[in-house]
Amino acid sequence: MKNSTISKRAYAKVNLALDVVRRRADGYHEVRMIMQTVGIYDVLTFTRREEPGIEVRTDKKELPGDESNLIYKAAKLVMEAYPGCGGIKIELQKNIPMAAGMAGGSTDAAAVFHGMNELFCLGMTVEEMCLLGVRIGADVPYCIRGKTALSEGIGEILTELKDAPPCFVLIAKPDIDVSTKYVYENLHADELDWHPDIDGMRAAIEKGDLYGMAELMENVLETVTVKKYPVIEEIKGVMKREGALNALMSGSGPTVFGVFDEEGKVKEAFYKLKETNLAKQIFISEWV
Ligand code: ATP
Repeated sequence: MKNSTISKRAYAKVNLALDVVRRRADGYHEVRMIMQTVGIYDVLTFTRREEPGIEVRTDKKELPGDESNLIYKAAKLVMEAYPGCGGIKIELQKNIPMAAGMAGGSTDAAAVFHGMNELFCLGMTVEEMCLLGVRIGADVPYCIRGKTALSEGIGEILTELKDAPPCFVLIAKPDIDVSTKYVYENLHADELDWHPDIDGMRAAIEKGDLYGMAELMENVLETVTVKKYPVIEEIKGVMKREGALNALMSGSGPTVFGVFDEEGKVKEAFYKLKETNLAKQIFISEWV
């Protein structure tokens, strides 16, 4: 019998650029985003059980392991597709800030597909996992693949890009939780009079041009979230004053990330930002 317990890392993402092209008649938004995984990750531990069923445990009391958890939903989809699997226990160690714009739930779901595929020797291809994953959320297929990618459609059409140029990344989440639904509902996509230069950023990444990439970091969702939570702009300001090439809100926010070309600068910015008390969680990280 193969190992009965395995662990997987589920990495968080940031959006190097995020554009909303239009709101579709069905209410979904069509996006163009450059996605990038960062070195902050949850750890999921998978254990086979004799008795059938799914048990999910988390180390955060505000995040129940019940049927609302994306981990549970992903495990259920796999069990339905592969009824031969036995029971499973999945334990989550949550490190990624929640309701933060870092795809914490989606990346946990993605790790479930990878973990169960390995634990039960299911032989699913990445494409097959993505087809199941998109039923849970538009960002799940990206999280299954990770790295640097252009994401289009509602987020499920993915083009792998060259790795983003290496740099140091400062990530800060203020003490607020943002609902992705609220942000999209309050975005007037058809009234936007500017759009991020997604193709320009793609070209900069292909050239390995960190400075060109940083210059084009823009996110249309800031128009909604920053208006409601000005602290996001304040954090961006601190990062830029402390030497960030640029700083941006990730996803629907409120997490802000800044990119730096020197380790000394990112460390200095970390301490300066800490002193301001603007952010509850601060990390120094890098692309993964
Ligand atoms: P995104 O960037 O995809 O919008 P997010 O970082 O803003 O995601 P998440 O951390 O994924 O937001 O969580 C949003 C909500 O989803 C949480 O408040 C929680 O109620 C629910 N949720 C369900 N399962 C999970 C999970 N495994 N991890 C985190 N949140 C989960």
